[in-house]
Amino acid sequence: MTRSIRDIWHHAWTSVLVEMSEQEIRWLLSSHQHISLLEKRRTTMVVSRVRLVAALFALLTPLWIVVDIAAFPREVWLPLVLARIAATVAFSLITLLAIRMNSMQDAYRILAMLFLVPTAFFLFSYQHMSQFQLHGIQQAFSTGYAFLPFVMLAGLSIFPLTLLENIAFISPLMIMQLIAGVMRLPVLDWPTFAASFWLMILIAGVAVLAGLSQLAFIIVLVREAIRDNMTGCFSRQSGEELLELQFVIARRSGNPLTVAFIDLDHFKQVNDRYGHEAGDAVLIAATNAIQGQLRMGDMLIRWGGEEFILILPNTTPAMACVALQRVRQAGMGKRPDGTPVTASIGIAERIDDEIDDWRQLVEKADKRMYEAKQGGRNRIIGPCCDVA
Ligand code: GH3
Ligand code: MG
Ligand code: MG
Repeated sequence: MTRSIRDIWHHAWTSVLVEMSEQEIRWLLSSHQHISLLEKRRTTMVVSRVRLVAALFALLTPLWIVVDIAAFPREVWLPLVLARIAATVAFSLITLLAIRMNSMQDAYRILAMLFLVPTAFFLFSYQHMSQFQLHGIQQAFSTGYAFLPFVMLAGLSIFPLTLLENIAFISPLMIMQLIAGVMRLPVLDWPTFAASFWLMILIAGVAVLAGLSQLAFIIVLVREAIRDNMTGCFSRQSGEELLELQFVIARRSGNPLTVAFIDLDHFKQVNDRYGHEAGDAVLIAATNAIQGQLRMGDMLIRWGGEEFILILPNTTPAMACVALQRVRQAGMGKRPDGTPVTASIGIAERIDDEIDDWRQLVEKADKRMYEAKQGGRNRIIGPCCDVA
């Protein structure tokens, strides 16, 4: 029963959010399982937009001082002008602070600061204005201040936030609106208050949808950056991140980490004799064949052209050698002339080779792959294996 409800729920979402996997939909709801590439993209985007908005408000906030002075008597405008100057300084500081931030934690902090300034300004101005009985044009201008929470809610739509993050930023604004209502309890016009609260909920809904659709767009971009389009292997960019991450994990846990550098033999000949498309087909078949022999958790990266890096976590070089022999025995597909595709493979391991950086690990495997080429190709060279 719960399973079928889950299926319906999933189908409903996937039909709305076309072409998103279950995991990607989960990424829309919460940032809990976001991968580092997604986190990086989001951090850059949130921080750059905070900077843009803060800079814009740092320019616009003081401009309205002229209107305040023209519209209100001195006892009304003076505190407002001082508050505007304080807000301008705060927005300028945020513009300066929102540079080079590395994590979503930093992004949350700067975004919260961006929302805090108008919130404080709103609470102050609202409380201040409520002391005066304003009429006519003055009342019209004072109503303008009451629109601030709506503007802030709408502003949330430019940030690619998850559903939970949106809720976290929207709730304080809603609570603030309620507090503002309670502050005027004796004179509160309930129907107007209820209507404006309802409007806030509608604007919040639209802002959340806009934010989520931006996040969905980033997720699709990240997905395309993670995988190599043609072979479906991890791309070089995400591969480097995987290597870095796996190296840190292996070092922390003290486990072995083996990397294999795989370069197809005489691949250029395929292109030269049968054309680039035939070459592509051989590449795709070779990667499918390699992937088919791997364990869960092994990662195949297209390092470039016809060169691949295979990450084997928790694997000794001897175990890696056995796995790669299995790959060779199963075959890596055929060339257009019917001869088998072969590869020269270099293996390096973190502990055996006494290496403390993932780049050195790749270099070592690359060097051994080169030795395998020089040794006659179609062979594996590693710390404890040299098989042809
Ligand atoms: P070796 O045994 O020494 O590795 O010889 P090789 O011909 O494989 O080596 P080389 O690195 O000189 O050539 C690699 C060729 O792979 C060059 C390029 O034409 C081809 N290549 C790289 N990327 C692709 C691709 O995406 N599609 C196709 N069809 N060919 C590619
Ligand atoms: Mg080659
Ligand atoms: Mg090559």
